[in-house]
Amino acid sequence: MRAFPGEIRRIRQRGLARKRKAPKTIWWRERDYLEGEVKAGVLILPTRGCAWGLAGGCAMCGYVYDSFPTPPDRLLTDFKKAMDELGDVEYLKIFNSGSFFDPREIDRETSYRIFDEINRHPRIRRVQVEARPEYLDRQALRGAAERLTPQLEVGIGFETVSDYIREKCINKGFTIEDFKRAVKTCIKEGVEVKAYILVKPPFLTEKEGIQDAVRSGYAAYKYGASRISLNPVAVHRDTLVEELWKRREYAPPWLWSLVKILRDLREKVHAPLLCHPTGAGKARGAHNCGRCDSRVYKAIVNFSATQKYEYLDKVLETGCACYEVWRTQLILEGFAQGIFPDDLRRL
Ligand code: SF4
Ligand SMILES: [Zn+2]
Repeated sequence: MRAFPGEIRRIRQRGLARKRKAPKTIWWRERDYLEGEVKAGVLILPTRGCAWGLAGGCAMCGYVYDSFPTPPDRLLTDFKKAMDELGDVEYLKIFNSGSFFDPREIDRETSYRIFDEINRHPRIRRVQVEARPEYLDRQALRGAAERLTPQLEVGIGFETVSDYIREKCINKGFTIEDFKRAVKTCIKEGVEVKAYILVKPPFLTEKEGIQDAVRSGYAAYKYGASRISLNPVAVHRDTLVEELWKRREYAPPWLWSLVKILRDLREKVHAPLLCHPTGAGKARGAHNCGRCDSRVYKAIVNFSATQKYEYLDKVLETGCACYEVWRTQLILEGFAQGIFPDDLRRL
């Protein structure tokens, strides 16, 4: 099975043809981790949207439907308002559902004015923006890092260490070499990288999703990412993933799988591991049985904000009847692929 670009384009065109309301800038506060727990501000800027996504894009991504060209002045007015309301955050995460350094989404002048506004808030220590590798050239990064007083961090959707999965299952449109080149350029310009790892891309079993995420988190760290963020797939409207989900050919990962991945990466990655699952506990997001979802979700979020493994250890000790169902699923998938119970001791 594979993600057919033609099929993805057809679904995208159908989704884009739906009548949409112009989205607004939105923001909220949440807990995050730098050298310790910090207050973070999340800010979503509506821009024209990801060029790759508008042309079809990734199999799981519906963010382009929340995108809308917004005049720079309006963007800046909203940004200033958001900054005043976010208050004393130390870490600011800016998302524009695309690439911050694509001038078609945010032109250079507007990005500099955004940075000037951030510089007025001396408590902010780190600013994260997001971008695909093709927009991370030296000139753009140097200009941004020079203009911005806090540490700049770029989030890149690395998703997986496997070029096969990135191309055939996700349709990501770049290779591991593109990612490595982008990380090197960032590091040379004093910009840190947060790598996003997609947990359970379509066409992978639960167990393959776990193994792929562990391998990918470790690889991203070795390539130079200083923070690793696990992104479990959530089923967005008008995406290939939604079509598969409706046909019962795809299910989002279990929350137990996220706990396992975070624990498996413990010895391998000496950098913050983060996970803020969207839609957790819902049918379209990472979930367990319904009874333990909120408890397991809280353990994951508490771990992300503190990096204390005791939260994950404790939730495993308390357990839930569905834990055995999850393990059984991994066994049955294994039988289907010729993996036998001895292998399970390693799970
Ligand atoms: S996941 Fe990122 S790169 Fe892929 S379509 Fe969405 S915004 Fe674009
Ligand atoms: Zn349960």
